[in-house]
Formats: sequence, structure tokens, C-alpha cells
Amino acid sequence: MISAATRVAAVIGDPVRHSLSPLLHNAAYRALGLDWVYVAFEVPAGRAPAALDAAVALGLVGLSVTMPHKADAARRCDVLTPEAARLASVNTVTVLPGGRLEGDSTDGEGFLRSLREAGHDVAGGRVLVLGAGGAARAVAAACEQAGAAVTITARRAAAARAAAAAIGVDDAPWEARPGLAAAATFVVNATPVGMSEPGTPLPPDSLGAGQVYVELIYHPAETAMMAAAAAGGAKVVGGLGMLVHQAALQVERWTGASAPLDPMREAATRALAAR
Ligand code: NAP
Repeated sequence: MISAATRVAAVIGDPVRHSLSPLLHNAAYRALGLDWVYVAFEVPAGRAPAALDAAVALGLVGLSVTMPHKADAARRCDVLTPEAARLASVNTVTVLPGGRLEGDSTDGEGFLRSLREAGHDVAGGRVLVLGAGGAARAVAAACEQAGAAVTITARRAAAARAAAAAIGVDDAPWEARPGLAAAATFVVNATPVGMSEPGTPLPPDSLGAGQVYVELIYHPAETAMMAAAAAGGAKVVGGLGMLVHQAALQVERWTGASAPLDPMREAATRALAAR
């Protein structure tokens, strides 16, 4: 029941109607027995600073931030975690006592936690990241921080170079990716190829035993490249774990409690199965 004492958290983005964040967060709050609710606000480009001011004025717990607001939110926050500062991007805003805003980026740590949950540790490994967008940067920075040797490759060489330079990792030509993938311990697909774009981001026979293929796409649950990598003997990790863990880190930051992962994962899985 929503009461006059119910606390509110929200996601801002545009588009935001497809977001699974309300399901993930509300499942967590229910399991934790909190009188909290999480809603979605469609906020047009350029209006993130106003939305963050409103979060303070309304006494919201915090905001999740998605496209196209991540950089604007980072600029508006009063304080940034080292991860958010390094990426100049924020997916989590916490309203601190007194109304100051703290910005964090939980995608990278969410990615590492999802790998750990699957029994993998990138430390000392060679990680090839396909793509140079926001997710690629977050993953590359987290892997570098965790002690991996990271290379970013993207179809636009200038984008790969800029992302790699911003984080302090290597970049490589897109055409070289089959050879780079063969030499990598972990290959991470941070492009939409396999979801909104058809096909596979690598030749299907690129990966084999002793390697891990990590897909950031979570719908479909198994992409063509995941199936091909598994058929070749590689281990595969899908994108649902990262989705759950980046939200779990927000829950932990805002509530101070351990996130109830099982109800969160079940809520997301049920919703995706119905799509
Ligand atoms: P983004 O900022 O738009 O970046 C996408 C990257 O993929 C860009 O480098 C883009 O290159 C490249 N790309 C797009 N189409 C391509 C194609 N046909 N061939 C080769 N490269 C292509 O997106 P993002 O936010 O980083 O997200 C990337 C993927 O990660 C998406 O599938 C998203 O759903 C997934 N994701 C998952 C999670 C999770 O929690 N599991 C979190 C975030 C993102 P151009 O710049 O040349 O277009």
C-alpha cells in the first residue's frame, strides 16, 4: 500500500517505457519489506538538471539515470564516485542528507559481479571489448581497474580510439577482431549486434575452449553468438546478470541492505519471457 510515508525512487530517461528498472527495484523493496516505491519518468533530452533538482525538492531517495541523460547528470552532481568521474557518466544519483547529489556508475561493477557469480575473474586476463559506447566504456574501465589487459575495438576507429584514450586502455582496428578474439581470455559484446541488429559481432567460429564470451544483450537470453561460442567450447555469460547487479548496487547504495538478488532476477526474467 502506498501511504503518505512512502519513499520514492525513480528512473529518468527517454525512452523509458521499456525499462526493467521499476520491476527490479520494486521486487527488491518488497522483499526487503520497505515502504518504498520506484517509478519511471520520461524526461526529454536536456532536462536532466531540472529532474535532479526536482529529486532534491521532492525528497526522492535517488534516481537511476539512463539514455540520454548520463553525461548531463554527471555534470549536475555535486560529488562523483571515482568510477563516475573516470567515465564522466552517471547511472545512479543518490540524494544525500542536506540535498547534495552524489553520482555513481554501477554498470562496470555490476558487470564484474555478474562474472564473479558465473565463476569468472578478469584479473590477469586479456579482455577484448567490442563496441565503444557507454556500456563498452564502463566494462573496459572496470576490467582495467580489476587488473585485466583491455583492448577496445569498434566499427568506427575514431570512436574506439577516443574511448580507449579516455580510459587508458588499448584500441585496435575492427577488422582485426577475429585474431584479437582468438588471443583473448574474455570477449565482451557491447554492441547491439544479436539484438536490434541481426547477425554475430564476430565470425561464429572465433571462440573455443579456455575462453569466455560475455554478452551484454539480455533479450534474447541466448544470442546467435552465445550459441556459436558455446558450440565451440567457450564458456558463455549472458547480459541478465549485469542488468540485475547494476540495479542491486543501487538498491544497496540507497537502502544500506544487501540486495535480494533472487526476487530481482525472477521479476526481470518473467517480464522478458512475456516480451
Ligand atoms: P551505445 O552507446 O549506443 O554503443 C553501441 C556501440 O555498438 C557503438 O560503439 C556502436 O558503434 C556499436 N554498434 C552499433 N551497431 C553496430 C553494428 N551493426 N556493428 C558493429 N558495431 C555496432 O550503446 P550502449 O549503451 O553502450 O549499449 C551497448 C549494448 O549493451 C546494447 O546491446 C545494450 O542493450 C547492452 N547493455 C546491457 C546492459 C546490461 O545491464 N546487461 C547495460 C548497458 C548496455 P557506432 O558508434 O558506430 O554506432
